[in-house]
Amino acid sequence: MSDSIKYFLPEEKIAKSWYNIVADLPAPPAPVLHPGTGQPIGPDDLAPLFPMALIGQEVSAERDIEIPKPVRDVYRMWRPSPLYRARRLEQALDTPAKIYYKYEGGSPAGSHKPNTAVAQAFYNREEGIKKISTETGAGQWGSSLAFAGALFGIEISVFMVKVSYDQKPYRRAMMETYGANCVASPSNLTEYGRAVLASDPDTTGSLGMAISEAVEVAAKNDDTKYALGSVLNHVLLHQTVIGMEAIEQMEMADDYPDIIIGCAGGGSNFAGLGFPFVGAKLRGGPAPTVIAVEPAACPSLTRGTFAYDFGDTGHFTPLVKMHTLGSTFVPPGFHAGGLRYHGMAPLVSHLLHLGEIEARAVHQNPCFEAGIQFARAEGIIPAPEATHAVRVAIDEALKCKVEGTSRTILFNLSGHGHFDMAAYDEFLSGKLEDKDYDAEKLDSALAALPEVAAE
Ligand SMILES: *Cc1c(COP(=O)(O)O)cnc(C)c1O
Repeated sequence: MSDSIKYFLPEEKIAKSWYNIVADLPAPPAPVLHPGTGQPIGPDDLAPLFPMALIGQEVSAERDIEIPKPVRDVYRMWRPSPLYRARRLEQALDTPAKIYYKYEGGSPAGSHKPNTAVAQAFYNREEGIKKISTETGAGQWGSSLAFAGALFGIEISVFMVKVSYDQKPYRRAMMETYGANCVASPSNLTEYGRAVLASDPDTTGSLGMAISEAVEVAAKNDDTKYALGSVLNHVLLHQTVIGMEAIEQMEMADDYPDIIIGCAGGGSNFAGLGFPFVGAKLRGGPAPTVIAVEPAACPSLTRGTFAYDFGDTGHFTPLVKMHTLGSTFVPPGFHAGGLRYHGMAPLVSHLLHLGEIEARAVHQNPCFEAGIQFARAEGIIPAPEATHAVRVAIDEALKCKVEGTSRTILFNLSGHGHFDMAAYDEFLSGKLEDKDYDAEKLDSALAALPEVAAE
């Protein structure tokens, strides 16, 4: 076994294709339905929102989808990303487990999200699109798409959830630095936003509302498309560069993971690392335990229902079958803003349903505790979202210690936390609270799920 602490791949090892897990699934995922007719939608239904190339990827069952050269050329700015062996953390935990992590915080925006932002901006430009509207929660996605828009000459408009817009002025400044424009959502720029503001002028906003506004802008303007930073099949597909590289890096380490861990908001960084390994298993390879970690305050995989639901609060999107807390559910405010979505990627939900992956929910205080323990050993300060993966990696390593077994653990460190120091500050001063969702509101959001005849 190699005794390195970092595994770097040369530039030419950037994957030439993304991995599409649909090709290897034992049962296909449920079709996307039109909310009006209840029938499966076709490419034309999505054409107002997305370029045709991305619609093609959304419904593709081809295993390997070529990464266009201009996208690979941008990936070269920070990819292949490093894989580290967390030897100092192992020592601090005094565990026989081996802990590896893939670090996605070295991208210009500081997270995994540019992996898909760059691809989406490229395909839009190829089809002559000049403007893209989108939403952002904590600001990670908005800044990633703003970066990609700057590279490909596309104007980006971002609807940022109001509570984050007020709390995180530097993420907004970052988007503006890249040339994007960013407004607080709900805004008075859309019909939907004006309606929400009329009935609830002091609303904090939510990701579901911001999606409705961004979709409305794209649907009403011929020159504008829409982009989503997680959940959809093509987004998960673009993120698989993470796992494809990790497979090669684990080979360099002469090792293979027994346990693979990722935090899950919409599911894209988890899928990005995990799906290439799950695919290898589905094709008869080794069978690691693959764990998606979600916040206890927004537990779509562990408490939600696997059912057809809308992707947004205003009900402008098609219906997708996913683990959901209900499109009207507004999670309590907690610091991992990137994990505050009511649903989960249909492909991740489907794999949980098939028993190919597991899910766990954790509260934010133990996550920040893990984030700090990680920072003190490994030096990198994890994004609040990523601390969820760190927590479970540490828990699994401690379990190995108790059992006296050595397992190989691999987790995704999806981003750094340099814009989230206010959250760390709250934790360090003992002011951070573990939030619980309102069980009655969850019940009523679930009771309001749309009825779908096809089910
Ligand atoms: C957005 C974000 C997430 C959550 O999104 P997924 O699609 O579930 O990956 C996790 N980590 C970071 C750093 C993020 O920015």
